[in-house]
Amino acid sequence: MRMKMLSVLVTLGLAAMSAQAVVTDKMIESDAKSTGDVLSWGVGTEGQRYSPLKQVNANTIARLTPAWSFSFGGEKQRGQESQPVIHNGKMFVTGSYSRIFALDAATGKKLWKYEHRLPEGIMPCCDVINRGAALYGNLVIFATLDAQLVALNQDTGEVEWKEKIDDYAAGYSASAAPVIANGLLLTGVSGGEFGVVGRVEARNPKTGAMVWSRPTVEGHMGYKYDDKGNKTENGISGTTGKSWPGDLWKTGGAATWLGGTYNAKTGLAYFGTGNPAPWNSHLRKGDNLYSCSTVAIDVKTGQIVWHYQGTPNDGWDFDGVNEFVTYDDGGKILGGKADRNGFFYVIDAKNGHLENAFPFVKKITWATGIDLKTGRPNMVPENRPGDPTASSDGKKGNAIFSAPSFLGGKNQMPMAYSPDTKLFYVPANEWGMEIWNEPITYKKGAAYLGAGFTIKTINDDYIGAMRAIDPKTGKIVWESKNNAPLWVVC
Ligand code: CA
Ligand code: CA
Repeated sequence: MRMKMLSVLVTLGLAAMSAQAVVTDKMIESDAKSTGDVLSWGVGTEGQRYSPLKQVNANTIARLTPAWSFSFGGEKQRGQESQPVIHNGKMFVTGSYSRIFALDAATGKKLWKYEHRLPEGIMPCCDVINRGAALYGNLVIFATLDAQLVALNQDTGEVEWKEKIDDYAAGYSASAAPVIANGLLLTGVSGGEFGVVGRVEARNPKTGAMVWSRPTVEGHMGYKYDDKGNKTENGISGTTGKSWPGDLWKTGGAATWLGGTYNAKTGLAYFGTGNPAPWNSHLRKGDNLYSCSTVAIDVKTGQIVWHYQGTPNDGWDFDGVNEFVTYDDGGKILGGKADRNGFFYVIDAKNGHLENAFPFVKKITWATGIDLKTGRPNMVPENRPGDPTASSDGKKGNAIFSAPSFLGGKNQMPMAYSPDTKLFYVPANEWGMEIWNEPITYKKGAAYLGAGFTIKTINDDYIGAMRAIDPKTGKIVWESKNNAPLWVVC
């Protein structure tokens, strides 16, 4: 009963703010501190997902009751991975199949909905989900499964602008929430399983006009755009041919499918990148930059300032897309990342220096640890799936057991950081896989893996474990086990 009163009070607080102005850069920069709104994915562009509100705590949470519920509806009900954003008493939440709903945050009443008209033949690799929208001015902006961006009027749901990111028939799609960084709308791309070229794009959030693009596969040219839309070269990412053999960089993957975070103090946006394509690593000897990495981009110039690669020459689909969450460590800005490969990395957010790295899951087979001097993993060569060309029929390489599985020590479900406890809260999963490689060649619009797999459990009693992790010591301070995976889908 008391918690119902609390929810009414929160409701009144939102209603009282209904005369508030449109969403500004300043409001977005202080989103983590302002408790009357949620303006960005990650509850603040740093991605900490921390609230300074005190009403809900360990003593009161058991009495929390739902104020309302809302169904996304119909036979289209599928995976739900969206984080809502809230402004002026309105909640904007995306659903499956590129739909977005505006709700009255106090009552749950639907104000409007937009259903994106999707063409036949879209290729979302892993369910038809969406992870959320960005707010800017009077617009709410989200990405679609046919690789477009749509900006709608927050009040009416009218389309204000619509822009194509890339060709869905070549395997491109988009499902991450855009991030607003210093007045720019930043987005990534999905499609690493189809040999797309990963990149980050910056647009004018008011018009959708391109400002710069930065590829996350070494060898590709970045561009910048003037007010008239004229495009000029802005430097190649890395050095063509350096970390990729032959032409494989042209279909290199490294999709930025989980979007990014931004820290206004460093002026850098942090995007994780997915697997290099194809999965069969024997076809692409080398580090395959900037796959399975964190890439820090200066939002003013569109240049990569630093990168850190968790899994060089990935052979296990250890997408390094996981969110890079920045925090203040006694005046120094650090970032934490729980990588799909099972290791947690602590990195200086300004210059990319590796401060600490440790496992956050209990079984890791592909590497014995991370060398803090070189920043590179100590790999276990025999735990890489074998080369099919070395097998007797040339069709299937040696199968090996790998932990984590490609589903990861952590996947897309976000972690949180508390500046009070100085701990990260990581939804981890303990599972493994049998994985083998097969021959593969690139074909536009077709899956580009060259691998097969079977997921395996490791423990009888649990898969998921919510873990409180100290980034300084690498210790798991506490954990809460769960027999199912910690995954907010289906
Ligand atoms: Ca806020
Ligand atoms: Ca992948």
